[in-house]
Amino acid sequence: MTDNQRRNIILATDAGGTMTDAFAVDEDGAFSIGKALTNKVDESISYVQGYENSAANWDMSLEELHDNSIANIYTGTLYLNTLLERKGRTVGLIVTKGQESMYIHERGHSWIGLEWEDVLHHKLHHHVGGDMFRLHAGLVKGVAERIASGGYFMLAEPGQVKVPLNEAETRRAVVELLDQGVEVIGVVLLFSYLNGSHENRIREIAKEVMQERGVDVPVILSSEIVPVMKEVQRMKSVLMEAAGGPLVRDMLMKVEDVANSRGYAGELTTMASYGSIVNIRHPRMYETILSGPTGGLIGAKTLGELLGERHVLTADIGGTSFDVGMIQDHHISLRKEPDFAGHRLALQMVALDSIGAGAGSEVHVDPKFKHITLGPQSAGSDVGRCLRHPVVTVSDCNVVLGFLDPDNFLGGDVKLDRDAAVAAVRDEIAEPLGLSVEEAAAGVLTVLNSHLNHHLLTMLKSRGANPSEWTMFMFGGAGPLHMYGVDVPFAKVYTFPFAAAFSAFGVACAEYAKRFNQGSSYILPPAADEDAKSAMAKAMSETYKALERQGKKELFDEGKLTPKNIEFGASMRYVGVLETLDVTFSFGSINEAADIDRAIGEFEEQYAHIYGRGASLPESGFFISELSVEVVADKPKPVFIAHELVGETPSEESVTGERSVYFSGEWLSTKTYDMDALQPGNIVRGPAIIEHPMTTLVVPPKTEAAFDEYRFIEFRAATG
Ligand code: AMP
Ligand code: MG
Repeated sequence: MTDNQRRNIILATDAGGTMTDAFAVDEDGAFSIGKALTNKVDESISYVQGYENSAANWDMSLEELHDNSIANIYTGTLYLNTLLERKGRTVGLIVTKGQESMYIHERGHSWIGLEWEDVLHHKLHHHVGGDMFRLHAGLVKGVAERIASGGYFMLAEPGQVKVPLNEAETRRAVVELLDQGVEVIGVVLLFSYLNGSHENRIREIAKEVMQERGVDVPVILSSEIVPVMKEVQRMKSVLMEAAGGPLVRDMLMKVEDVANSRGYAGELTTMASYGSIVNIRHPRMYETILSGPTGGLIGAKTLGELLGERHVLTADIGGTSFDVGMIQDHHISLRKEPDFAGHRLALQMVALDSIGAGAGSEVHVDPKFKHITLGPQSAGSDVGRCLRHPVVTVSDCNVVLGFLDPDNFLGGDVKLDRDAAVAAVRDEIAEPLGLSVEEAAAGVLTVLNSHLNHHLLTMLKSRGANPSEWTMFMFGGAGPLHMYGVDVPFAKVYTFPFAAAFSAFGVACAEYAKRFNQGSSYILPPAADEDAKSAMAKAMSETYKALERQGKKELFDEGKLTPKNIEFGASMRYVGVLETLDVTFSFGSINEAADIDRAIGEFEEQYAHIYGRGASLPESGFFISELSVEVVADKPKPVFIAHELVGETPSEESVTGERSVYFSGEWLSTKTYDMDALQPGNIVRGPAIIEHPMTTLVVPPKTEAAFDEYRFIEFRAATG
């Protein structure tokens, strides 16, 4: 087969803050990785460079690659960075009168994600609140209105209008916001998830005012994009959508245009934070806020299933970040109200813990206490003193000790200066501490490893997990570089030949799906009769049908897709108990009284499983606060082909040379290997360095790297 006959290719991109990884996988499971520096002004440029690069690996043109591709998924950190860099649109907010300061109070969560010093600073000085959205008191307007919540005491029907909307006040609010030059208006009213009529009316009034003034500013309603309980989280979602959504979509459209002009026939898709692929025309863009890193967990879940590993811990070590995630019983943990960039959101998001240190982290020596600290500042694409960063970094240490080849960084596209790294480590670390250059560099890596082990163990122990039942997957450009440092007694430790583009690989494995959550206020008393259950079933069934219709419509609009699977569920709790569980029903949707019993049964089963039978409280009744529907469509997925094992000894062609590397206190003559040339069954015994154009696997003495039938790499203690 010549390369140009590759068919049914899936393209998956992870456009990070520094690098854009362009991953292509064909119908035989063969893959090609391209990398390019992310062009922050126009990502279509780095998209093209990345895929020209991966097409070239297959001796194809970009047009040929596109012409043979059947899916194109583009993810990254653009959304997050747009907000973090405060480049979003200017938002004006209309809220229920009396709630104007909600954006500052944040239910007391204004310290989320901050170091202790910063918490103090925020307590004493000023709140994060609207900073990310450039929101201030003048841009938040209250209007009189009130929808009833219903709630436990049933003092009113849920969703009943208690105070009609003050239309004159609404009009004034819109005029004032437009006078201040807002580019988008968000509307967040209390309990609007039960009745969106006031929010709808506000949009009508706003559009009338705009028409009179000859302007057109989008109006985003919380009841439309995030109709769930808890107004602070709901407000954050509206702010994210308003400030960033359209800007991000415009950039994605640009990428799609360029892909189309270079031979790709389909539409571009991206990834929602809960781990599903959606078209870039998806109406709730804020759901894609964490698109890139999500892929890592999906890839790990896919490979865990393939390898029969039930519990997988993942570590993604890149230039700037270090993210840890968990897959338990083949399930990716989701967070329903994640803390994200200092905000609490109403958005299901895969559970990832970021630790602010990566391979590019700056190294500082405390002059007084003589200890080494890492990060949080990072060199990003400036790498370290060995390239053009003014402060010594972890990468400098890796160069000094011979782990990183200064002539093979990004396959040799970037030349690193070893002498500069040596001088930097000597001046900034070794001399202040009275150590040799090697001791200083090795000490830095020991500190990094101890952070790594600490975080892995904490993650496991906080869930009562026993490491010996877990398998560790390490990836990211620097995952293989630091995997020898893992000192937790895992069952197995793996990395992959596509480690450097693992998130992009994972994105290629994802499902095409839509998830909907609709807030509700159903109470089922302990001794509810058939009539009460039937009435509840009828009401729930209507909502489920409406969400199902919406899901089907969106799938159809985004590529004439039809669902292959639909799941129904609810957020349930015992009345008076604060712990809510999300239950996915095994029996499908709810239509009749008996389904209510089934739903309650599954909730109680799950509750007892987590908290014990003694904790159940059916005598207080049940509360259903949210209904959920997931609609899944078919999408091509990468295949994995098991190859025949060729034998343990690597071929001579796979050996690329020999160099001196500093392992546990001494310089050892060490063979280097080409990762792409190693075959299924090969075992590389340490000391060795296995190189790939974008990543480096360090194999110290007494350890080995074994390539299995898929060419996945198990890193373990030496066997031979
Ligand atoms: P990432 O952010 O995932 O692309 O990872 C980048 C990191 O990978 C760099 O900071 C290096 O520490 C590490 N790395 C290891 N080998 C290489 C290589 N050959 N080229 C580039 N980066 C490498
Ligand atoms: Mg990356």
